[in-house]
Amino acid sequence: MKIRVGFGYDVHQLQPGLPFWLGGIEVPHTHGALGHSDADVLIHVICDALLGAANLRDIGFHFPDTDPQYKGIDSKRLLAEVMRILRAKGYEISNIDSTICLEQPKVNPHIPAMQRVLAEVMGLEEDLISIKATTTEKLGFVGRREGVAAYATVLITKE
Ligand code: MG
Repeated sequence: MKIRVGFGYDVHQLQPGLPFWLGGIEVPHTHGALGHSDADVLIHVICDALLGAANLRDIGFHFPDTDPQYKGIDSKRLLAEVMRILRAKGYEISNIDSTICLEQPKVNPHIPAMQRVLAEVMGLEEDLISIKATTTEKLGFVGRREGVAAYATVLITKE
């Protein structure tokens, strides 16, 4: 069996009055993430980690932010497409671990809903999708509430 690891990192700016899409759900907040798509930073890092694990470049390569067809797109659709590409190459997901870095609002109460939605989109058991959250102790752009960052690692396998 082939076992491969992948890693993803992403950042989006936070701005007042935008919807805040995170982990496939809309989190109630005064600010939302800015981006060409719906700017769902957690889905973006999961996509990048999966693509990286399979050596299939990155999310910007497959869904360029210069392409109008991806303007405002629901990132769940990008994730579903990444899963399709990955499974077409014969890979299955062993597990995902991720961390969201955000000062406000608290992410923890929303994690079960994110896991449910992502498991559904990816066709996986919820137990395979770990989502963690941390502040950065008021340091840096996350601490100043200027942005949201996320990291993900994944393990994929092929028989
Ligand atoms: Mg992004």
